[in-house]
Amino acid sequence: MRRKVIILGITGSVGESALKVLRKFPDEFELVAFSYHKNHHLASQIAQEFSVKKIACTSGEGKSFWSNEVTLYDFMEDLFDEEFDCLLNAVVGAVGVNATRKALEMGKKVLLANKESLVMAGELLSNYTKKKMIIPVDSEHNSLFRLLENTKSYRKLILTASGGPFRQTEKEKIAKAKIKDVLRHPTWEMGAKITVDSATMVNKALEVMEAHFLFQVPYEKISAIIHPQSYVHAALELSDGTYFFHASEPDMVYPIAHALFYPEEPPLIREQKNMSVYPSFEFYPIEKERYPGFFLGIMAAQKGGLFPAIFNAANEEAVSLFLSEKIRFFDIPELIEKTLASVSFNKSELTWDILWEADKWAREKTRSFVLK
Ligand code: NDP
Ligand code: MG
Repeated sequence: MRRKVIILGITGSVGESALKVLRKFPDEFELVAFSYHKNHHLASQIAQEFSVKKIACTSGEGKSFWSNEVTLYDFMEDLFDEEFDCLLNAVVGAVGVNATRKALEMGKKVLLANKESLVMAGELLSNYTKKKMIIPVDSEHNSLFRLLENTKSYRKLILTASGGPFRQTEKEKIAKAKIKDVLRHPTWEMGAKITVDSATMVNKALEVMEAHFLFQVPYEKISAIIHPQSYVHAALELSDGTYFFHASEPDMVYPIAHALFYPEEPPLIREQKNMSVYPSFEFYPIEKERYPGFFLGIMAAQKGGLFPAIFNAANEEAVSLFLSEKIRFFDIPELIEKTLASVSFNKSELTWDILWEADKWAREKTRSFVLK
């Protein structure tokens, strides 16, 4: 029996890699439904190729585009009426959180690329992470997931980061960086938002939070290191001072195939290259002056409560302002810092309503600094 898969955000970069895996294993997986936002043209090609008849167009702009053969919805969660085995959530941003929540509440396995789900709501979803209902697709976490399954004990989880396009650029040049310079990622091809997050290293802070909630590990036991080649995705530091690494070419098909096949071992997904053609591996510490966004994120993570969600929302707004040329690259961490510093409410019990209120507050606050 083929496993029935729903993919959210199919027209994005993770969606594209997921389709490569589905194409390679047509006897294993069936795409039964998907969502997209604005890219009607690509969505229609995918619908034809995979004979999908149940589609959500989340921008609400799809009505005139589709024929009666397709059942069209406005919301991702509407797709869950269809029978399915697992959900791949590859939507970008906090807009993906409710779909993760609903699929988990329905008892479905969630293959999670949408890290914002755990950053925002990790505490509220902890019952599901404990039951291993979330299989991480984010490459670092997927590697950690695999390493942890094969290790009895460890001292630290280590996430690697490429360092982004400005790892060695002088500060004066970064200040003048154009959007196209920021979007030129040295090792991974990804959507615009996460590529900006890699340049500011906010992405790594979000991933530290993601690891904390996913593996239920305290922050003192999670660290991050720059590895410009992006071949080693994560490592475990063991109690005797040795390390376990997990490595591959930087290609999202590996973690996606692993998550889709889990708990079975994934088969060979693309041509195996001999390790002798791999580049030399380098590792460097993360410099505070170069990546203030990372350290702001770690501070928010340690404060806990609503702070991770506020950090995430402030960053999403700042990145969107940057991509629409309203602010400069260096303004991104500055806006996040100002928003975090404006939090005056007390830490209260975390509920879904309070979480969304904080998200809204942080977005408005971040924008208010620019519109002033
Ligand atoms: P992309 O920007 O490439 O794709 C985003 C997808 O979400 C598209 O299908 C887009 O639709 C859809 N989308 C955009 N806005 C909305 C919205 N408001 N509501 C619903 N859907 C929307 O992103 P990526 O594929 O790069 O990343 C997706 C997620 O995976 C992110 O959380 C990212 O952090 C994470 N991730 C990505 C990795 C990568 O290699 N790209 C690696 C690890 C994690 P459309 O294009 O039709 O408008
Ligand atoms: Mg990652």
